[in-house]
Amino acid sequence: MNRRVSALTAFMIIFAVIVIQYTGAYLKDMHMDIGYAEGTKCVFLTFDDGPSDGVTPRVLDVLRDEGVKATFFIVGRCAGGREKIIEREAAEGHTVGVHSFSHDYKEIYSSPAALLDDIERCNDVIERITGRRSKVYRFPGGSFTLSAALTDAVHGAGYTYVDWNASVRDAEIPGASPADLLNAAKSTSAGRNKVVLLCHDGAGKRATADALKDIIAFYRAGGYKFCTVK
Ligand SMILES: [Zn+2]
Repeated sequence: MNRRVSALTAFMIIFAVIVIQYTGAYLKDMHMDIGYAEGTKCVFLTFDDGPSDGVTPRVLDVLRDEGVKATFFIVGRCAGGREKIIEREAAEGHTVGVHSFSHDYKEIYSSPAALLDDIERCNDVIERITGRRSKVYRFPGGSFTLSAALTDAVHGAGYTYVDWNASVRDAEIPGASPADLLNAAKSTSAGRNKVVLLCHDGAGKRATADALKDIIAFYRAGGYKFCTVK
């Protein structure tokens, strides 16, 4: 390979990586096991980092009023005193999945054993409250940059893990308005039939609850069904 060709190849690889990173056009493990039928238009509304007193009940109210089911990836250490909220998520037909007990990246990603300890600890909380253990997991920060040792450990323990390919960007845009979040949902889902939308229902994410009705209306108008990770 001459120098010009290899420089061009390097440029194209770097360009592709940047495009993929920027658009979020990567998605691991998005198979039938999350309840998606090929050829259909499906949006998975997913909420990470809850439960919280100020946001989760409002999210649940909107979902109930709109007749829409979603998936909540919970943080176990936030569950104390908020058992009723998690009970409500399960009772109203939403999926309750594992996000983390501690949500402390340094601790959970220090080894596969530490990661599995954290997951099982969160799942113990889910089981105590809902009566059943969850099979679905979302890596804090996504699996995109993690080692195979970590992702294999999660598979080995019998979990399906789910990243996202669209986002309301409520963790990225400081002081985002509900309109900003709706616009982020629109732009990141453009051209996709299968949308896994990242949202957060942790403390302080009030704009997410405020935007939810319009976000649901947007997908409904686009002919999407609302699906849950199973
Ligand atoms: Zn998180």
